[in-house]
Amino acid sequence: MSLVVQKYGGSSLADAESIKRVARRIVDTKKAGNDVVVVVSAMGDTTDELLDLAAEVSPAPPSREMDMLLTAGERMSMALVSMAISNLGHSARSYTGSQAGVITDAQHGKARIIDVTPGRITEAIGEGHIVIVAGFQGVSQATNEITTLGRGGSDTTAVALAAGIKADVCEIYTDVDGIFTADPRIVPTAHKIDRITNEEMQELAASGAKVLMLRCVEYARRFDLPIHVRSSFSHHEGTWVVNQKEGDSVEDPIIAGVAHDRSEGKITIVGIPDSPGRAAAVFKAIAGVGINVDMIVQNVSAGTEKKTDISFTVPKEDAGRGVEVLKAMQDELGFEQLQYDDQVGKLSLVGSGMRSNPGVSATLFQSLADAGINIEMISTSEIRVSVVTSDDELDEAVRVVHSAFGLDADGEAVVYGGTGR
Ligand code: ASP
Ligand code: MG
Repeated sequence: MSLVVQKYGGSSLADAESIKRVARRIVDTKKAGNDVVVVVSAMGDTTDELLDLAAEVSPAPPSREMDMLLTAGERMSMALVSMAISNLGHSARSYTGSQAGVITDAQHGKARIIDVTPGRITEAIGEGHIVIVAGFQGVSQATNEITTLGRGGSDTTAVALAAGIKADVCEIYTDVDGIFTADPRIVPTAHKIDRITNEEMQELAASGAKVLMLRCVEYARRFDLPIHVRSSFSHHEGTWVVNQKEGDSVEDPIIAGVAHDRSEGKITIVGIPDSPGRAAAVFKAIAGVGINVDMIVQNVSAGTEKKTDISFTVPKEDAGRGVEVLKAMQDELGFEQLQYDDQVGKLSLVGSGMRSNPGVSATLFQSLADAGINIEMISTSEIRVSVVTSDDELDEAVRVVHSAFGLDADGEAVVYGGTGR
Protein backbone atom coordinates (compact mmCIF):
# COMPACT_ATOMS: atom_id res chain seq x y z
CA MET A 1 0.00 0.00 0.00
CA SER A 2 1.26 3.45 -0.90
CA LEU A 3 0.47 6.92 0.29
CA VAL A 4 -0.30 8.93 -2.83
CA VAL A 5 -0.79 12.67 -3.17
CA GLN A 6 -2.67 13.70 -6.31
CA LYS A 7 -3.11 17.28 -7.46
CA TYR A 8 -5.78 18.21 -10.00
CA GLY A 9 -5.49 21.53 -11.82
CA GLY A 10 -8.29 23.84 -12.89
CA SER A 11 -8.66 22.45 -16.40
CA SER A 12 -9.22 18.95 -14.95
CA LEU A 13 -12.05 20.36 -12.81
CA ALA A 14 -13.70 22.65 -15.33
CA ASP A 15 -17.32 21.55 -14.78
CA ALA A 16 -19.54 19.04 -12.98
CA GLU A 17 -18.78 16.27 -15.51
CA SER A 18 -15.04 16.77 -15.05
CA ILE A 19 -15.40 16.72 -11.30
CA LYS A 20 -17.24 13.40 -11.49
CA ARG A 21 -14.55 12.01 -13.77
CA VAL A 22 -11.80 13.09 -11.37
CA ALA A 23 -13.76 11.59 -8.46
CA ARG A 24 -13.81 8.22 -10.26
CA ARG A 25 -10.05 8.37 -10.76
CA ILE A 26 -9.49 9.14 -7.11
CA VAL A 27 -11.76 6.28 -6.04
CA ASP A 28 -9.93 3.90 -8.41
CA THR A 29 -6.64 4.84 -6.74
CA LYS A 30 -8.16 4.19 -3.33
CA LYS A 31 -9.66 0.88 -4.47
CA ALA A 32 -6.24 -0.21 -5.73
CA GLY A 33 -5.24 -0.21 -2.07
CA ASN A 34 -3.65 3.22 -1.64
CA ASP A 35 -4.21 5.97 0.86
CA VAL A 36 -5.06 9.09 -1.10
CA VAL A 37 -4.69 12.78 -0.37
CA VAL A 38 -5.95 15.06 -3.12
CA VAL A 39 -5.04 18.71 -3.63
CA VAL A 40 -7.36 20.74 -5.85
CA SER A 41 -7.13 24.01 -7.77
CA ALA A 42 -10.04 26.29 -8.54
CA MET A 43 -12.38 25.15 -11.32
CA GLY A 44 -11.40 26.16 -14.87
CA ASP A 45 -10.57 29.85 -15.13
CA THR A 46 -12.20 30.71 -11.80
CA THR A 47 -9.13 32.44 -10.37
CA ASP A 48 -8.83 34.71 -13.43
CA GLU A 49 -12.54 35.44 -13.30
CA LEU A 50 -12.33 36.37 -9.64
CA LEU A 51 -9.39 38.65 -10.43
CA ASP A 52 -11.42 40.32 -13.20
CA LEU A 53 -14.34 40.76 -10.84
CA ALA A 54 -12.12 42.34 -8.18
CA ALA A 55 -10.74 44.76 -10.78
CA GLU A 56 -14.29 45.82 -11.60
CA VAL A 57 -15.08 46.87 -8.05
CA SER A 58 -11.70 48.39 -7.21
CA PRO A 59 -8.58 49.40 -9.14
CA ALA A 60 -6.40 48.48 -6.16
CA PRO A 61 -8.08 45.84 -3.99
CA PRO A 62 -6.52 45.38 -0.52
CA SER A 63 -4.31 42.30 -0.64
CA ARG A 64 -5.95 40.76 2.42
CA GLU A 65 -9.37 40.86 0.76
CA MET A 66 -7.91 39.61 -2.50
CA ASP A 67 -6.71 36.48 -0.71
CA MET A 68 -10.09 36.02 0.97
CA LEU A 69 -11.68 36.19 -2.48
CA LEU A 70 -9.24 33.95 -4.35
CA THR A 71 -9.18 31.18 -1.73
CA ALA A 72 -12.92 30.76 -2.33
CA GLY A 73 -12.14 29.21 -5.74
CA GLU A 74 -10.27 26.25 -4.26
CA ARG A 75 -12.85 25.84 -1.49
CA MET A 76 -15.58 25.36 -4.07
CA SER A 77 -13.54 22.65 -5.78
CA MET A 78 -12.66 20.77 -2.60
CA ALA A 79 -16.25 20.52 -1.43
CA LEU A 80 -17.56 19.50 -4.86
CA VAL A 81 -14.89 16.82 -5.35
CA SER A 82 -15.61 15.51 -1.87
CA MET A 83 -19.36 15.34 -2.61
CA ALA A 84 -18.75 13.53 -5.89
CA ILE A 85 -16.62 10.94 -4.08
CA SER A 86 -19.29 10.45 -1.41
CA ASN A 87 -21.78 9.88 -4.19
CA LEU A 88 -19.60 6.98 -5.38
CA GLY A 89 -19.98 5.40 -1.95
CA HIS A 90 -16.59 6.35 -0.49
CA SER A 91 -15.99 8.64 2.42
CA ALA A 92 -14.17 11.85 1.76
CA ARG A 93 -13.37 14.89 3.91
CA SER A 94 -12.33 18.27 2.55
CA TYR A 95 -10.07 20.74 4.36
CA THR A 96 -8.99 24.30 3.67
CA GLY A 97 -5.27 24.99 3.52
CA SER A 98 -5.40 26.39 7.02
CA GLN A 99 -7.20 23.31 8.39
CA ALA A 100 -4.67 21.09 6.63
CA GLY A 101 -1.85 22.81 8.50
CA VAL A 102 -0.30 24.75 5.64
CA ILE A 103 1.53 27.46 7.58
CA THR A 104 2.93 30.39 5.61
CA ASP A 105 4.59 33.73 6.10
CA ALA A 106 2.42 36.85 6.05
CA GLN A 107 2.88 38.04 2.45
CA HIS A 108 -0.55 38.19 0.83
CA GLY A 109 -0.62 37.02 -2.78
CA LYS A 110 2.81 35.39 -2.70
CA ALA A 111 3.15 33.71 0.67
CA ARG A 112 5.80 31.07 1.22
CA ILE A 113 5.09 27.86 3.08
CA ILE A 114 7.21 27.78 6.22
CA ASP A 115 5.78 24.65 7.83
CA VAL A 116 3.21 21.92 7.35
CA THR A 117 1.47 20.52 10.42
CA PRO A 118 -0.71 17.85 8.86
CA GLY A 119 -2.19 16.39 12.07
CA ARG A 120 -5.82 16.52 10.88
CA ILE A 121 -4.85 15.03 7.54
CA THR A 122 -3.00 12.03 8.94
CA GLU A 123 -5.83 11.46 11.41
CA ALA A 124 -8.41 11.48 8.61
CA ILE A 125 -6.30 9.07 6.54
CA GLY A 126 -6.05 6.81 9.59
CA GLU A 127 -9.84 6.78 9.80
CA GLY A 128 -10.00 5.57 6.22
CA HIS A 129 -11.17 8.76 4.55
CA ILE A 130 -10.04 10.12 1.23
CA VAL A 131 -8.69 13.57 2.05
CA ILE A 132 -9.25 16.59 -0.19
CA VAL A 133 -7.25 19.76 0.45
CA ALA A 134 -7.75 23.20 -1.07
CA GLY A 135 -4.53 24.14 -2.85
CA PHE A 136 -2.89 27.55 -3.26
CA GLN A 137 -3.64 28.72 0.29
CA GLY A 138 -2.47 28.68 3.86
CA VAL A 139 -2.58 30.64 7.05
CA SER A 140 0.04 33.03 8.35
CA GLN A 141 1.56 32.13 11.66
CA ALA A 142 2.38 35.76 12.41
CA THR A 143 -0.94 37.39 11.54
CA ASN A 144 -3.45 34.51 11.61
CA GLU A 145 -4.66 35.73 8.23
CA ILE A 146 -5.50 33.58 5.23
CA THR A 147 -2.84 33.79 2.49
CA THR A 148 -2.36 32.61 -1.08
CA LEU A 149 0.85 31.21 -2.53
CA GLY A 150 0.93 32.96 -5.93
CA ARG A 151 -0.40 31.82 -9.31
CA GLY A 152 -0.12 28.09 -9.86
CA GLY A 153 0.42 27.63 -6.12
CA SER A 154 -1.57 24.41 -5.80
CA ASP A 155 1.44 22.53 -7.17
CA THR A 156 3.43 23.77 -4.22
CA THR A 157 0.68 22.81 -1.77
CA ALA A 158 0.73 19.29 -3.19
CA VAL A 159 4.49 18.86 -2.93
CA ALA A 160 4.72 20.47 0.51
CA LEU A 161 1.92 18.28 1.82
CA ALA A 162 3.44 15.18 0.21
CA ALA A 163 6.73 15.94 1.94
CA GLY A 164 4.91 16.69 5.22
CA ILE A 165 3.06 13.36 5.30
CA LYS A 166 5.99 11.45 3.74
CA ALA A 167 4.01 10.35 0.70
CA ASP A 168 5.56 7.87 -1.71
CA VAL A 169 4.78 9.96 -4.76
CA CYS A 170 3.21 13.25 -5.73
CA GLU A 171 1.14 13.05 -8.92
CA ILE A 172 0.33 16.33 -10.64
CA TYR A 173 -2.63 15.95 -13.00
CA THR A 174 -2.96 18.44 -15.83
CA ASP A 175 -4.48 18.84 -19.30
CA VAL A 176 -1.51 17.47 -21.25
CA ASP A 177 0.26 14.09 -21.01
CA GLY A 178 3.24 15.43 -19.09
CA ILE A 179 6.04 17.92 -19.52
CA PHE A 180 6.75 18.71 -23.14
CA THR A 181 9.86 19.96 -24.92
CA ALA A 182 7.93 23.21 -25.58
CA ASP A 183 4.41 24.50 -24.96
CA PRO A 184 2.30 22.26 -27.25
CA ARG A 185 -0.07 25.18 -27.82
CA ILE A 186 2.76 26.93 -29.67
CA VAL A 187 4.75 23.95 -30.96
CA PRO A 188 2.27 21.21 -31.91
CA THR A 189 5.17 18.83 -32.62
CA ALA A 190 6.60 19.15 -29.11
CA HIS A 191 7.21 15.75 -27.57
CA LYS A 192 6.60 14.44 -24.08
CA ILE A 193 9.66 14.10 -21.88
CA ASP A 194 9.76 10.76 -20.02
CA ARG A 195 12.14 11.82 -17.33
CA ILE A 196 13.65 15.20 -16.46
CA THR A 197 15.96 16.25 -13.67
CA ASN A 198 14.79 18.61 -10.99
CA GLU A 199 17.60 20.95 -11.93
CA GLU A 200 16.39 21.19 -15.55
CA MET A 201 12.76 21.51 -14.50
CA GLN A 202 13.74 24.31 -12.13
CA GLU A 203 15.38 26.24 -14.99
CA LEU A 204 12.38 25.63 -17.28
CA ALA A 205 9.91 26.79 -14.63
CA ALA A 206 12.04 29.84 -13.84
CA SER A 207 12.12 30.60 -17.57
CA GLY A 208 8.36 30.76 -17.91
CA ALA A 209 7.23 27.14 -18.45
CA LYS A 210 3.89 27.11 -16.64
CA VAL A 211 3.40 23.37 -16.35
CA LEU A 212 4.87 23.34 -12.82
CA MET A 213 5.30 26.20 -10.38
CA LEU A 214 8.95 27.00 -9.66
CA ARG A 215 8.64 26.79 -5.91
CA CYS A 216 7.06 23.36 -6.09
CA VAL A 217 10.08 22.09 -8.01
CA GLU A 218 12.48 23.62 -5.48
CA TYR A 219 10.54 21.95 -2.70
CA ALA A 220 10.57 18.56 -4.39
CA ARG A 221 14.32 18.87 -4.91
CA ARG A 222 14.92 19.74 -1.30
CA PHE A 223 12.88 16.80 -0.01
CA ASP A 224 13.98 14.40 -2.78
CA LEU A 225 10.34 13.73 -3.61
CA PRO A 226 9.57 12.30 -7.05
CA ILE A 227 6.86 14.15 -9.01
CA HIS A 228 4.84 12.44 -11.71
CA VAL A 229 3.23 14.98 -14.06
CA ARG A 230 0.46 13.35 -16.10
CA SER A 231 -2.90 13.89 -17.72
CA SER A 232 -6.19 13.47 -15.91
CA PHE A 233 -7.76 12.85 -19.33
CA SER A 234 -5.73 9.76 -20.26
CA HIS A 235 -4.00 6.86 -18.53
CA HIS A 236 -0.65 7.40 -20.25
CA GLU A 237 2.52 7.41 -18.23
CA GLY A 238 3.52 11.06 -17.82
CA THR A 239 6.84 12.74 -17.01
CA TRP A 240 8.88 11.89 -13.93
CA VAL A 241 10.71 14.80 -12.33
CA VAL A 242 13.54 13.31 -10.31
CA ASN A 243 16.70 14.37 -8.56
CA GLN A 244 19.77 13.60 -10.58
CA LYS A 245 21.17 10.25 -9.52
CA GLU A 246 24.77 9.34 -9.92
CA GLY A 247 25.75 7.90 -13.27
CA ASP A 248 22.51 9.01 -14.91
CA SER A 249 23.90 11.80 -16.98
CA VAL A 250 25.38 9.66 -19.75
CA GLU A 251 22.09 8.92 -21.49
CA ASP A 252 20.46 12.23 -20.77
CA PRO A 253 19.70 14.26 -23.88
CA ILE A 254 21.67 17.46 -24.37
CA ILE A 255 18.56 19.63 -24.49
CA ALA A 256 15.55 19.14 -22.22
CA GLY A 257 13.30 21.78 -23.72
CA VAL A 258 12.50 25.31 -24.85
CA ALA A 259 10.55 27.65 -22.57
CA HIS A 260 9.12 31.05 -23.35
CA ASP A 261 7.99 33.97 -21.25
CA ARG A 262 5.94 37.06 -22.07
CA SER A 263 5.75 38.42 -18.55
CA GLU A 264 8.71 40.79 -18.71
CA GLY A 265 9.41 44.19 -20.27
CA LYS A 266 12.70 45.86 -21.11
CA ILE A 267 13.95 49.13 -19.63
CA THR A 268 16.85 50.86 -21.39
CA ILE A 269 18.89 53.68 -19.89
CA VAL A 270 20.46 55.58 -22.76
CA GLY A 271 23.70 57.57 -22.45
CA ILE A 272 24.70 56.99 -18.86
CA PRO A 273 28.29 57.93 -17.90
CA ASP A 274 30.56 54.88 -18.00
CA SER A 275 32.14 55.34 -14.59
CA PRO A 276 32.34 53.17 -11.48
CA GLY A 277 29.24 53.19 -9.31
CA ARG A 278 26.57 54.01 -11.93
CA ALA A 279 25.28 50.47 -12.37
CA ALA A 280 25.34 50.02 -8.61
CA ALA A 281 23.23 53.16 -8.17
CA VAL A 282 20.73 52.08 -10.85
CA PHE A 283 20.15 48.61 -9.47
CA LYS A 284 20.14 49.77 -5.87
CA ALA A 285 17.27 52.10 -6.78
CA ILE A 286 15.44 49.28 -8.59
CA ALA A 287 15.91 46.90 -5.67
CA GLY A 288 14.79 49.66 -3.33
CA VAL A 289 11.29 49.57 -4.83
CA GLY A 290 11.18 45.78 -4.52
CA ILE A 291 11.77 44.86 -8.17
CA ASN A 292 13.55 41.68 -9.21
CA VAL A 293 15.75 42.17 -12.27
CA ASP A 294 16.16 39.29 -14.69
CA MET A 295 18.53 39.94 -17.63
CA ILE A 296 21.04 42.80 -17.80
CA VAL A 297 23.06 44.02 -20.77
CA GLN A 298 25.54 46.88 -20.74
CA ASN A 299 27.31 48.07 -23.86
CA VAL A 300 30.97 48.96 -24.02
CA SER A 301 31.20 52.72 -24.24
CA ALA A 302 32.22 53.97 -27.65
CA GLY A 303 34.04 57.19 -28.53
CA THR A 304 35.63 59.67 -26.21
CA GLU A 305 32.45 60.62 -24.39
CA LYS A 306 32.55 57.56 -22.14
CA LYS A 307 28.81 57.02 -22.14
CA THR A 308 27.01 53.71 -22.34
CA ASP A 309 23.54 52.13 -22.48
CA ILE A 310 22.19 49.69 -19.92
CA SER A 311 19.18 47.47 -20.70
CA PHE A 312 17.46 45.13 -18.28
CA THR A 313 14.25 43.15 -18.02
CA VAL A 314 11.74 43.26 -15.16
CA PRO A 315 8.24 41.83 -14.61
CA LYS A 316 5.77 43.94 -16.62
CA GLU A 317 3.66 44.70 -13.57
CA ASP A 318 6.71 46.27 -11.85
CA ALA A 319 8.05 48.22 -14.83
CA GLY A 320 6.05 51.38 -14.12
CA ARG A 321 7.55 51.66 -10.66
CA GLY A 322 11.04 51.06 -12.05
CA VAL A 323 10.72 53.76 -14.70
CA GLU A 324 9.38 56.21 -12.14
CA VAL A 325 12.19 55.76 -9.65
CA LEU A 326 14.85 56.07 -12.37
CA LYS A 327 13.26 59.18 -13.90
CA ALA A 328 13.36 60.86 -10.52
CA MET A 329 17.11 60.19 -10.44
CA GLN A 330 17.91 61.38 -13.97
CA ASP A 331 20.13 64.29 -12.86
CA GLU A 332 21.90 62.29 -10.20
CA LEU A 333 22.60 59.37 -12.56
CA GLY A 334 23.37 61.66 -15.49
CA PHE A 335 21.72 59.66 -18.27
CA GLU A 336 20.20 61.13 -21.43
CA GLN A 337 17.04 59.10 -21.96
CA LEU A 338 14.90 56.32 -20.56
CA GLN A 339 13.04 53.83 -22.78
CA TYR A 340 10.53 51.13 -21.92
CA ASP A 341 9.52 48.33 -24.30
CA ASP A 342 6.79 45.90 -23.25
CA GLN A 343 6.61 44.23 -26.68
CA VAL A 344 9.36 41.72 -25.94
CA GLY A 345 9.51 38.04 -25.11
CA LYS A 346 12.12 35.65 -23.81
CA LEU A 347 13.08 32.24 -25.15
CA SER A 348 15.14 29.88 -23.02
CA LEU A 349 16.85 26.70 -24.10
CA VAL A 350 17.51 24.37 -21.15
CA GLY A 351 19.53 21.17 -20.84
CA SER A 352 22.11 19.78 -18.45
CA GLY A 353 24.06 18.40 -21.42
CA MET A 354 25.11 21.97 -22.27
CA ARG A 355 27.82 21.67 -19.67
CA SER A 356 29.74 19.20 -21.78
CA ASN A 357 28.62 20.03 -25.31
CA PRO A 358 30.09 23.03 -27.09
CA GLY A 359 28.22 24.79 -29.88
CA VAL A 360 24.76 24.95 -28.33
CA SER A 361 24.65 28.76 -28.40
CA ALA A 362 25.98 28.82 -31.96
CA THR A 363 23.21 26.50 -33.19
CA LEU A 364 20.61 28.55 -31.32
CA PHE A 365 21.76 31.88 -32.76
CA GLN A 366 22.11 30.43 -36.29
CA SER A 367 18.56 29.06 -36.25
CA LEU A 368 17.21 32.47 -35.25
CA ALA A 369 19.35 34.19 -37.88
CA ASP A 370 18.05 31.82 -40.60
CA ALA A 371 14.50 32.78 -39.63
CA GLY A 372 15.41 36.49 -39.74
CA ILE A 373 14.71 36.95 -36.03
CA ASN A 374 16.72 39.62 -34.25
CA ILE A 375 18.18 38.93 -30.80
CA GLU A 376 17.94 41.89 -28.42
CA MET A 377 19.55 40.43 -25.31
CA ILE A 378 21.36 37.25 -24.31
CA SER A 379 22.03 35.64 -20.95
CA THR A 380 23.31 32.23 -19.95
CA SER A 381 23.66 29.94 -16.97
CA GLU A 382 25.45 26.60 -16.81
CA ILE A 383 22.50 24.77 -18.30
CA ARG A 384 20.49 27.54 -20.00
CA VAL A 385 20.75 30.06 -22.83
CA SER A 386 18.10 32.80 -22.95
CA VAL A 387 17.45 35.41 -25.62
CA VAL A 388 15.03 38.32 -25.78
CA THR A 389 13.22 38.90 -29.09
CA SER A 390 10.33 41.09 -30.10
CA ASP A 391 7.00 39.78 -28.83
CA ASP A 392 5.52 39.11 -32.26
CA GLU A 393 8.49 36.93 -33.29
CA LEU A 394 8.63 34.87 -30.11
CA ASP A 395 6.32 32.00 -31.14
CA GLU A 396 8.19 31.56 -34.41
CA ALA A 397 11.49 31.70 -32.50
CA VAL A 398 10.36 28.89 -30.21
CA ARG A 399 9.36 26.76 -33.21
CA VAL A 400 12.61 27.21 -35.17
CA VAL A 401 14.83 26.60 -32.13
CA HIS A 402 12.80 23.52 -31.22
CA SER A 403 13.39 22.10 -34.72
CA ALA A 404 17.04 23.13 -34.84
CA PHE A 405 17.74 20.92 -31.84
CA GLY A 406 15.90 17.96 -33.32
CA LEU A 407 13.15 18.04 -30.71
CA ASP A 408 10.19 17.74 -33.09
CA ALA A 409 8.07 14.61 -32.75
CA ASP A 410 6.43 12.84 -35.70
CA GLY A 411 2.91 13.37 -34.45
CA GLU A 412 1.11 16.25 -32.81
CA ALA A 413 0.82 16.67 -29.05
CA VAL A 414 -2.66 16.34 -27.55
CA VAL A 415 -4.01 19.20 -25.46
CA TYR A 416 -7.06 17.73 -23.73
CA GLY A 417 -8.54 20.80 -22.11
CA GLY A 418 -7.95 24.20 -20.65
CA THR A 419 -8.10 27.57 -22.25
CA GLY A 420 -4.42 28.35 -21.75
CA ARG A 421 -5.34 31.37 -19.67
N1 ASP B 1 -6.12 28.61 -8.82
C1 ASP B 1 -4.81 29.17 -8.67
C2 ASP B 1 -4.35 29.74 -10.00
O1 ASP B 1 -5.06 29.66 -10.99
C3 ASP B 1 -3.84 28.19 -8.14
C4 ASP B 1 -3.55 27.04 -9.06
O2 ASP B 1 -4.21 26.81 -10.06
O3 ASP B 1 -2.59 26.31 -8.76
O4 ASP B 1 -3.27 30.27 -10.07
MG1 MG C 1 -5.27 27.48 -12.15
